[in-house]
Amino acid sequence: YSAKQSGRGFAVFEAELDRHSPRRLALAGGMRVAINEGQIQLYYQPKADLRTGRIMGVEALARWDHPEFGIVGPSEFVPIAEQTGLITPLTSFVLDAAIRQVRTWNDSGLELSVAVNLSARSFLDTQLAVEIPRLLARWDVEAEQLELEITESMLMTDPARAEATLTRLSQIGLTLSVDDFGTGYSSLANLKRLPVDVIKIDKSFVMEMAVDASDAAIVRSTIDLAHNLGLKVVAEGVESEDAWRQLETLGCDFAQGYYLSRPLPAEAATRLIRERGTGRDVPPPALRVV
Ligand code: C2E
Ligand code: MG
Ligand code: MG
Ligand code: MG
Repeated sequence: YSAKQSGRGFAVFEAELDRHSPRRLALAGGMRVAINEGQIQLYYQPKADLRTGRIMGVEALARWDHPEFGIVGPSEFVPIAEQTGLITPLTSFVLDAAIRQVRTWNDSGLELSVAVNLSARSFLDTQLAVEIPRLLARWDVEAEQLELEITESMLMTDPARAEATLTRLSQIGLTLSVDDFGTGYSSLANLKRLPVDVIKIDKSFVMEMAVDASDAAIVRSTIDLAHNLGLKVVAEGVESEDAWRQLETLGCDFAQGYYLSRPLPAEAATRLIRERGTGRDVPPPALRVV
């Protein structure tokens, strides 16, 4: 039977048990080799300007192509990396691979930004502000082309430390985004004094906004408040044309989600980006829609 379906108490029990499950032990034990031997790959999900449909950037999403289990998602292996102390090499790997991919795109005339997700531990790692400029220099990529995504809970656990960390990172010239916005306990008022640039509205609100009036109200008021604070807004989980239109009407800036594209391996992402065009290049006159 599945303990997960039996309610919250069992879910906690299952989580305890899960720490010793053969699968978890195998993932924990194999992770270092996986990082070093290329079993972990980045997929890229595009993010478009809601008005023009042009691709402004991509989010790098890690996948583990495990020899025994097949594709393992980050929601499963990132927490294990945090618990086993392997999050630092994992984050270094992801940053390096993502920045290197931006260099590849720049070389082929595609200028767009890449967003990298940070775990709580990586966010508070003071080495990050040293490592990132080194990686940007290594691949000759501008800081403006790198975006870091952190979650509300990382900001609220130790607000003073979070503020110092964000200040250091924003001084490098990186774009800082608050991911999964609306799922934590912070409010936009808490974010007012922090050097963040972008709010990503959590997909749970966006996916339901066509059928749930309160989700629609949350999306609408988040967009308005964020704009009043000078922040850009990305809607995650845009799965339909209806949602896209609704967000466009609400004045949301960017959309990310299955309607535009699922996360794709680098080559497939490159093809899609070429088809759609990026935000920076000017379309040839013949392709302009009048
Ligand atoms: P996230 O940063 O909020 O990323 C968005 C997640 O939503 C991704 O799941 C993406 O595949 C999924 N998604 C995108 N569009 C849609 C949609 O239209 N509908 C639905 N239902 N889902 C959509 P994924 O790739 O499984 O990643 C899960 C989480 O794992 C991410 O959430 C992020 O917090 C974390 N993560 C991913 N890569 C990394 C990484 O390299 N490092 C760290 N620390 N965390 C990572
Ligand atoms: Mg994210
Ligand atoms: Mg998110
Ligand atoms: Mg999420």
